[in-house]
Amino acid sequence: MNIIPYGRQEITSTDIESVLSTLRSDYLTQGPAIYEFEKNFAICVGAKYAVAVNNGTAALHLAYLGSGIVNGSRVVTTPLTFAATANAALYCGADVVFCDIDPKTMLIDIEKLEEILKVENIDLITIVSFAGYPIEHRKLSEIAKKYGCKIIEDACHSPGSSRVYENEIVRTGSCDYVDVTVFSFHPVKHIACGEGGMITTNCEDVYEKLCLLRTHGISNKELKFKTNNDGLWYHEQHELGYNYRMPDILAALGNSQLMRLRSSIQKRNEIAVIYDKHLRDLPLTVPYRENSIEHAFHLYVIRTERRKELYEYLRSNKIFAQVHYLPVYLHPYYREKYGCLKGQFPVVEKFYDECLSLPMFPTLSSIDQQYVISKIIEFCN
Ligand SMILES: *Cc1c(COP(=O)(O)O)cnc(C)c1O
Repeated sequence: MNIIPYGRQEITSTDIESVLSTLRSDYLTQGPAIYEFEKNFAICVGAKYAVAVNNGTAALHLAYLGSGIVNGSRVVTTPLTFAATANAALYCGADVVFCDIDPKTMLIDIEKLEEILKVENIDLITIVSFAGYPIEHRKLSEIAKKYGCKIIEDACHSPGSSRVYENEIVRTGSCDYVDVTVFSFHPVKHIACGEGGMITTNCEDVYEKLCLLRTHGISNKELKFKTNNDGLWYHEQHELGYNYRMPDILAALGNSQLMRLRSSIQKRNEIAVIYDKHLRDLPLTVPYRENSIEHAFHLYVIRTERRKELYEYLRSNKIFAQVHYLPVYLHPYYREKYGCLKGQFPVVEKFYDECLSLPMFPTLSSIDQQYVISKIIEFCN
């Protein structure tokens, strides 16, 4: 019996062919595969612009810069996320304020968020669609407008998710109600590039700024030149940017994987339904879901007070479940930086004590899933 991990990428022969054809072409970086990937991704999520970068953290960094986050800005976010969500705001010199989570959806608690916005000066809210659960686009956008904040959606867990309102479907990444959305193409995520990220927006100014910052802040667009154009070789730097470019080799892989996004979300939802059915009546909690959402199921997270024992039991049976996440403010770096203490946000801490992410990936076979389920039942008995 092989190890069953909590997440795993799928690489098909079509994926391999598309990488090989890029390797045989003239461009290894910033060639036609990047433009194809960006164009197709923007269409897929329903946004006007998409900018590919070399990982999700770089995408977050540029999203903050593109949203005007500078030294001394203040960003509020959820502690239930990968540290990069907060780290990237710190890269810009911003301060990060945390807000506890909603005990049902595990996303930022909107009422508590509003309490913070009432008393603190906040420039931007970063919402994480944790596990693939789409955010409350409309409500959050109303609040952001009321308090004059921008919104970044960290959708690294949730490409392909959507939320249904009366007579409107809001797709994650469409930026219909947020300023920018950020995605990651790390192999455990829905689309695997090895390393990769994407930023979507509907704002042309933000789009141009992202393009500039991705490549050193250097422009080769004649219309944008601030001094004399010395000749065809000429380009000039306008901002302090970075090298956050995605290679064409990886864009070719991402583009090929993007074509399977819909079917892989469907498969993840089928796997979730089977877990729900078999685990619902055991002494543990299965993930909450409203009828009005399409979940992307990056993670399938159960809760149990015997989390550590269950984790170890599964591991001894070669099932490598995982814990997502240690609340960001409890990392020693944040404890030291902000004097964060245990007990600060009770809802997320209780979740951290009880959560366990079960194997969830499109190629999880039904035999392997039944094996996982049988081991959980065995443990509960
Ligand atoms: C994976 C992830 C990131 C970082 O993405 P990388 O591509 O690994 O840099 C950021 N935020 C969340 C919520 C993630 O899951």
